[in-house]
Parts: sequence; C-alpha cells; structure tokens
Amino acid sequence: MILFIHRKDLRTQDLAAFERIAGLGEQGLHVFIADPALLTSIRKDEHSGVHFLSQVRRLQELYIQAGRNLHILYGDPAEIVDSILGQYPVSELVVGRDYTPYALARDHKLEKKAEQHGVPFTSLPDQTLIDLEDFHAFAGRKEPYKVFTPFYRKWKEYMELFFRPPGSVLVSDLRTAELEPELSDRFRLPFVLEDYPVAEEPSIRLADFIEDDLHNYEQGRDQYGSDGTSRISGILNTGALSIRTVYQRVMGIPEGEAWRRQLAWRDFYLYQSVFDPDFYHYEQRYDLSLLDDKLFSAWANAETGIPVIDAAMTQLNETGQLPNRLRMVTAMFLTKNLLCPFPLGEAYFRLKLADYDNAPNRGGWLWSSSLGFDAAPYFRIMNPVNQSEKFDPLGTYIRRWLPQLADVEGREIHRPRPHAIVDLKASRERAIGVYKEILRSRTVGGPE
Ligand SMILES: Cc1cc2nc3c(=O)[nH]c(=O)nc-3n(C[C@H](O)[C@H](O)[C@H](O)COP(=O)(O)OP(=O)(O)OC[C@H]3O[C@@H](n4cnc5c(N)ncnc54)[C@H](O)[C@@H]3O)c2cc1C
Repeated sequence: MILFIHRKDLRTQDLAAFERIAGLGEQGLHVFIADPALLTSIRKDEHSGVHFLSQVRRLQELYIQAGRNLHILYGDPAEIVDSILGQYPVSELVVGRDYTPYALARDHKLEKKAEQHGVPFTSLPDQTLIDLEDFHAFAGRKEPYKVFTPFYRKWKEYMELFFRPPGSVLVSDLRTAELEPELSDRFRLPFVLEDYPVAEEPSIRLADFIEDDLHNYEQGRDQYGSDGTSRISGILNTGALSIRTVYQRVMGIPEGEAWRRQLAWRDFYLYQSVFDPDFYHYEQRYDLSLLDDKLFSAWANAETGIPVIDAAMTQLNETGQLPNRLRMVTAMFLTKNLLCPFPLGEAYFRLKLADYDNAPNRGGWLWSSSLGFDAAPYFRIMNPVNQSEKFDPLGTYIRRWLPQLADVEGREIHRPRPHAIVDLKASRERAIGVYKEILRSRTVGGPE
C-alpha cells in the first residue's frame, strides 16, 4: 500500500503522485493533513485560510464524486505518519515536493519517520513548470540566474525541449483504502469543514480568461480598474489546477506570450527560493533597525490619506484580492515612504491574500524593499499618485473602493487628502537615504 499526502496539489487529475501510484499498481491510502502550524486559528478565518479550506472542500467533493476515499486529518504530520505507518503495511510514502523552510523541515521529519519504519520516502516535483534541479543542471552555471530576462530565455529553451505534458491518471483509476475509525477520531478536525464554501470549478475561470482577455493581456494587465488578468494564482498555489494543464492550454498561442512570461515569473521565484541561500534570510543579512512599525497600522487599516493606497488596502481587507500593480505600489509605499520593515507587510499579506503563497509573496516584498535578486533599485520609488493617474486615469478603482470619494472630480481623485500621514516627496527623499544605508549594511553568512 502507498501512503499519499495531498498538500499543495488539491486536485484529482494530472498529479505526479498519481502517475507514480498507478505505476506501482498498489492501493493508496490518500490523506490530507490540516497542519496546525500552517493553519493557525487566526489564518483559518482570514482570506488566505478560507480560500485554502474551500479548495480542500472541493477536493473532498471530487473524491466523493469519483467514489474514492480521502481522509482529512488534523495534527502534526510526523505524528500522523508515525501512527499510520505503525498500523498499515505501507510500502512507500509519496508527497509532492515543497520548498519553504517550514516545508523542508517538516519533510525531513517525515523522511526520518518513514526511515524508522523501513519505508521509502518519495517527494516528486509537481509545483513548477520546469524541474528546478534539472533546469539548474541544464543551464550549466555555477551561479544561479539573478536577473529574470536571461533566466526566461533559458526557461523557454528548456520548456521547448522538456515540457512534461499533463498526466492522464485520474483518481477514479486508483484504488483507495479506508482508514481505521480510531485513527480518524484521534486526528479529527477541531472545526467544521462544511462551514467553508466549496471552491468554484477552476477550469471555467481559466477558459473564460483565455477566451475574453488573453489576447489583450499585455495592455490590460496593469489597468487594474477593469479585471484583465486571469485571477488563477490561488488556483495554482493550492494546486487546484496543475501548472502543466494550465500551460498546455496556452502553449503555441502567439498572443499568449506575455502571459506565459508571468508563469515563468512564478517559476523564477520558486527557483530563487531554492538557489538563493539568502532568499528566506535577507532580514538577517541587512540591518533594518532604521525602520519601524509606527505607521504600519494606518497602512493596514486603509487610513493613510493617499487614495489609491487606501482603496487597495480596502479591497485587500474586504476580499483578499489585489491586482499585481497595486501589490507593488502598496508594498513600496509601506517599505519606502512609511519606512516599515518588509517582513511586517509580508506577514500581513500572508493572512489577507486569498492567493497567498510563500515564495511569490516574499519575492514581491523583497523586490519592493530593494533586496534580493532583480529587485527594484533603491532610488526608484513609485509615486502612488502618478501610478494611479497612469494606470487608472478616471479613478474608477478608487471610486469603487472608497465610495466616500466617488464625487471628487477629475484628477483631484488621485491626490493625497488633507489628513495624509506622509508627504510623498519628503518621504521619498528620506527613504533613498535610509535604503542606501541599509544596502551598505550587508553581512555575509550562512542561513540561521
Ligand atoms: C508584494 C507582492 C506580493 C505578492 N504575493 C503573492 C502571493 O502571495 N501569491 C501569488 O501567487 N502571487 C503573489 N504576487 C505576485 C502577483 O501579484 C500575483 O501572482 C498576481 O497578481 C496574481 O493575479 P493573476 O492570477 O490574475 O495573475 P496573471 O496576471 O493572470 O498571471 C498569471 C499567473 O502568473 C503568475 N504571476 C503573475 N505575476 C507574477 C509575479 N509578479 N510574480 C510571480 N508570479 C506571477 C501567477 O501565478 C499568476 O496567477 C505578489 C506580488 C507582489 C508585488
């Protein structure tokens, strides 16, 4: 019997693990473990947790429809695996590979537990389009790519040669085992999963985007007043749709190039998380003590007096959605104009973003604070008013999210309100000086 644990692959087709289980021809014990370390009591009621659990509910429905068993458990993954391996004749433990520091430590423990029971542990790359290790070997470089454009050139070359098409095994092709009631009871969820809505069918959203917006994506993606992007990041990050399936839908479409490039950005952040030893440690490499949290809550509560910032934070707080351009604008405003350390904003997005994912989120925050590979230069600071005038000239977005400003006429809609908490020009000058100091403070060392 194979023990398979669903993690960031909440779907029932096109999984590397399903191909492996089918190949071994054995029955599977399929579980999803709600891990209290990841699903804290705060997070499970915030947009990021709600979105994730909605996808778990959908996964549960898919198993039921296919007449197969999925066991949803709660607790420390190593303890659960230990109990299962102690009671079942498991011949292999299979998971999809994950790359965050927590995930690596967790999987190390799982591997050790499996070893104690004499069970092989197989972790299959399944989150990215390129196989990260294989790509690195293919590129044949000593140093990893630090800039996106050359990375992308090589990425395209690799994809042409080695793109792995979607797998064909469905959950209904597999035999799945029951779980002893004693085990289900011992690791029962402490909340009611049925309280969460079942996530919508993800392929419909993708199909609508390809039909309606793909051709105009390059021009439309930054016009955040109208929804010109796919909004599938949450679907990709929970694995509700496989990245291979998505890519295959847009492969070879000439007007799909700009969008495929964004899928490569997703791979680039995961690549950095593996090959940049500092990726999760920049706050320890630089002295951030010139920054503080004094203005953080005004930013988080949409009370800065800068209309586009407050509109964006209102959308985020209310819906868990935020267009990419406004993630950059709000992140840069917090880290530069308000001089708050990036980990504060990163942690806030972790709770609030419905599509939260560790690597692209950290990548975005590092970019805004001029740290890490291919980051924004410290002296190039986005002006939120100019950004708003450029990408939403009529102020449609601000009027939608701040109805109290709906009647403000013309370009005035973009301008700071009288109670604005910072002067944009003065705070920009100050930030340039402070970040120059921060970038000078770099220390070298291994990850803590
Ligand atoms: C500060 C900050 C925080 C961010 N946090 C997250 C996060 O937690 N989760 C997350 O998935 N993305 C994050 N991003 C990246 C990006 O904003 C979102 O992926 C994008 O807005 C999702 O919308 P979409 O699905 O409509 O994307 P589309 O524009 O339709 O792009 C298609 C897909 O490409 C990928 N993609 C697009 N832009 C980027 C990008 N800049 N970086 C990496 N991948 C990209 C996403 O998987 C996306 O779904 C963050 C960016 C910034 C600046």
